[in-house]
Amino acid sequence: MNDPRRMVSIIVPFFNESGAIDLFHKSLTSCLNEIANIKWEIICVDDGSTDATLDELRALAENDDRYVIIEFSRNFGKEAALTAGLDAARGDAVIPIDADLQDPPELIADMIIAWRQGAEVVQARRIDRSHDTVLKRQSAVWFYRLHNKLSKTKIPENVGDFRLMDRVAVHALKQLPERQRFMKGLFAWVGFKTVTIDYARAERAAGATKFSPFALWNFALEGFTSFSTAPLKVWTYIGAISTIFTLLYAAFIIFHTLISGSDVPGYASLLVAVLFFGSVQLISVGLLGEYIGRIYIETKQRPPYIIRKIYRGHDAT
Ligand code: UDP
Ligand code: MG
Repeated sequence: MNDPRRMVSIIVPFFNESGAIDLFHKSLTSCLNEIANIKWEIICVDDGSTDATLDELRALAENDDRYVIIEFSRNFGKEAALTAGLDAARGDAVIPIDADLQDPPELIADMIIAWRQGAEVVQARRIDRSHDTVLKRQSAVWFYRLHNKLSKTKIPENVGDFRLMDRVAVHALKQLPERQRFMKGLFAWVGFKTVTIDYARAERAAGATKFSPFALWNFALEGFTSFSTAPLKVWTYIGAISTIFTLLYAAFIIFHTLISGSDVPGYASLLVAVLFFGSVQLISVGLLGEYIGRIYIETKQRPPYIIRKIYRGHDAT
C-alpha cells in the first residue's frame, strides 16, 4: 500500500443552498462509500450564506468528522470559495463539486479510476446542457470561442470546475499568487496529464442559480482579462487601420477641393467621422480601464477570502 492515491478531498462551495444540502449530503456520501480503498473528507465552504446553510452544515459536521466547514466572513464568490477549499484540502487528490447536484457525484468513482491509472487531472465535460437556459448555453459557446482565439491558454469547452486534481496540480495552483482567481483558466494554465470524461448536466436539485446574466458577463470579462492582453493590443491595429483610411479620405478631399472647388456641404461626413472616432476612443479607454482596475486591485494584495471560523468534527458546535 505505497500508493499515495488514498485520500480525496471534496470541495463544495455553498451560497444559500439550504434547500439542497440534505439531498446533496446523502447522494455524495453514498457515492463515496461505494468506492473501495479510499478515505475522504468533504470541505464545505459557506460563502456568506444568509439562510440556514451554515447551521445545516455544522449539524452534518457534528455527526461526521470527515466534514470540515469553512465559514467566510461574507460572500466572496465561488472562485474564492474554491481557493479556500484548495488551501484547506489534505487529500492526495481534490475534487471541486457544486452543491446543487448539477455535477453528478456518481462520476467521482470514474474519476478516481482514471486517477489511479495515472491521470493527474480528470476533467468532466458536459455533453448535454439541455437543463441550462438557452442564453447561458449560447453565451458559454461564444465565451469559449472568443477566449480561445484571444488567449494562449485554451480553456476546454463545456468543462466546468467539476474535476479531479492530483496533489501535484493542487500544489501548482497554490503557487499562483494572483488574487483575482478565474479558476477555470488557472486549471487550464497549470496543465498536467489530463483525461476527460463526459456527462449529462442535471437540473438544479433545489433553489435557483446564483449567477445573474450580468454576473456571468463580468465573469467572462474576468476570464478575458486574466488570460489575454489581446483586447488591449487590438487598438494599435484598429488605430493604424483607421489612420490609413483617414489619410486616404483627407487626400481625396484635398484633390476634390483643388479640382472642383470648396465643398461646403461636408457637414454629415464630418459629424460621422467625429462621432466614430469619439466612440472608438471611448471604447479603448474603457478597456484600458478594465485592465488598470485589475492591476489596481491586484497591487493591494488583499487576501482572496477571509475566514470567520473553521468547524471540524467534534468542535462543530
Ligand atoms: N456559489 C458560491 N458563491 C457565489 C455563487 C455561487 O459559493 O457567490 C456556489 C453555489 O452555492 C453552488 C456553485 O457555486 O454550489 C454553483 O452555483 P450555481 O449552481 O448557482 O451556478 P450555475 O450552476 O447556475 O452555473
Ligand atoms: Mg448550478
